[in-house]
Amino acid sequence: MTMLPKTVPGAKKLGLVIDLDTCVGCHACAVSCKEWNTGGEAGILPDYDKYGPEPDGVWFNRIHSYESSEGGACRTVNLPRSCLHCEDALCVTVCPTGASYKRAEDGIVLIDTDICIGCKLCSWACPYGARELDEEAGVMRKCTLCIDRIHNEDLPQAEREPACVATCPSRARHFGDLADPQSKVSQLVKQRGGVDLLAELGYRPTNKYLPPRKAAIPTGPREAPARAASGIGAALLRLLDRALSR
Ligand code: SF4
Ligand code: SF4
Ligand code: SF4
Repeated sequence: MTMLPKTVPGAKKLGLVIDLDTCVGCHACAVSCKEWNTGGEAGILPDYDKYGPEPDGVWFNRIHSYESSEGGACRTVNLPRSCLHCEDALCVTVCPTGASYKRAEDGIVLIDTDICIGCKLCSWACPYGARELDEEAGVMRKCTLCIDRIHNEDLPQAEREPACVATCPSRARHFGDLADPQSKVSQLVKQRGGVDLLAELGYRPTNKYLPPRKAAIPTGPREAPARAASGIGAALLRLLDRALSR
């Protein structure tokens, strides 16, 4: 068993806020993530059966697209999915070697591949399917929140953000400190009614999702905004449930 870090006063909670209203499902973030991490600290993210009938590989970020008919209107909802850097991360506490850990200073969940034995306990514990086994190296891998970009003092300040955020053509991805109520990401969550995925499980994910706007999924002309937001949140959870059940 591996312990989660003690709460440090003033510590950051770095994470992503993803806008499901403006994500167009283009996969640019997923490709950019794979390219950056293959060439960076994480090392090569392998592909299997590249040109065969069932190509697969290690991807830290995957996009799921659905047709939604919530409120009687049809639209496509795209759900990017990567590690949510949870506060109560069971993927950390189940790890028998200490390879899976959460940083006290900024909340990023990482894997030390030097001591990972590839036992898969963490991937079974993660309800979001965010961990990917590297079958060639025999170790687990996952989103690093681009730790080698965001804290990289060799990069200009403007480039110290995750590759997926920098790439997104519709600006649907936002990066920042969710422990700071005044940060841009915290303000976005507040203004748009950002939600936790599968909140009832109690993992307390740091990443948040901004629901599609009410105009995009009509819920009735006289419905109160709070009720409408909660209906959209429930729809999101149903979409996620379908995604993770596959
Ligand atoms: S696969 Fe690696 S990181 Fe995951 S629980 Fe096992 S040893 Fe820990
Ligand atoms: S933060 Fe970095 S590692 Fe995580 S999904 Fe985005 S590009 Fe990939
Ligand atoms: S790059 Fe942006 S718009 Fe494209 S799938 Fe990713 S989050 Fe959505």
